Amino acid sequence: MDNPIVWLNGELVPLADAKISVLDRGFLFGDGIYEVVPVYAGKPFRLAPHLDRLERSLAEVRIANPYSRDEWAALVQRLADACGSDPCSVYLQVTRGVAPRQHAFPRDAKPTVYGIATPLTLPNAEKVEQGVAAVTHEDRRWQNCHIKSTSLLGNVLMAQHAAENDAMETLQFRGGFLTEGSSSNVWVVKNGQMFAPPRDNLILEGIRYTLLEQLCAACGVPFSARAIGEAEVRAADELLITSATKEVLAVVQLDGKPVGAGVPGPVFRALYAAYQRAKGAA
Ligand code: PMP
Repeated sequence: MDNPIVWLNGELVPLADAKISVLDRGFLFGDGIYEVVPVYAGKPFRLAPHLDRLERSLAEVRIANPYSRDEWAALVQRLADACGSDPCSVYLQVTRGVAPRQHAFPRDAKPTVYGIATPLTLPNAEKVEQGVAAVTHEDRRWQNCHIKSTSLLGNVLMAQHAAENDAMETLQFRGGFLTEGSSSNVWVVKNGQMFAPPRDNLILEGIRYTLLEQLCAACGVPFSARAIGEAEVRAADELLITSATKEVLAVVQLDGKPVGAGVPGPVFRALYAAYQRAKGAA
């Protein structure tokens, strides 16, 4: 994987030969969007909702979609096949393209398309079985968090906050209400019921959001999306985080204090098992 094959503007090239202009608006402004698709046993997992979200992100930031749905699907498969690792994750990025540096949209820039597949290192058995630590922080990002934008400085700072506090993730609150992690959605279990912040502009709706909702139904765990206050998060029986690369993990410690019993709980265990089954059935 030292020099993997990547996709850049219509060609597969070795990573070392993939070059973009310093005038690319992704580089200058973070003016782009991205996707991350996990691939198990050579098959992209939940590809359709990932491509739906890619199309939504492009439309939200008004970058013309450079490819058809079939072309995107073929690209994901081609990159996954070229990677040769199982599981792997396919990263796709589209920026507004190369143009002299002016904030407003350039008249005729062509979107830059980049893609790479890399081995997917899932959380190890210790993290799955013993859970992970999280810390908290005020959510100071912009108010378009539903767009999967490459402008991720706010998220980067929150990931660094976790890293500097020996935690896996930072759970954010905006005005006293739970939003999400730096790169994951957050789930709260109380009295056998599952809650998550509503799908709105303050969170990125993970592809695992609907999936977990479906798995909750399959496992007989009642689910509701609603605003969740900070006190409720701190009094939760269980906290879970989900993302393409973390799958589903139990948060057993929050700001140094145990969450519930301080060990992964029954709802986590049921959903983790259901997630693994869903992967196998895909
Ligand atoms: N929120 C944020 C901010 C994220 O970066 C991610 C991971 N891309 C998620 C939520 C979870 O999304 P998904 O389930 O599609 O990985």
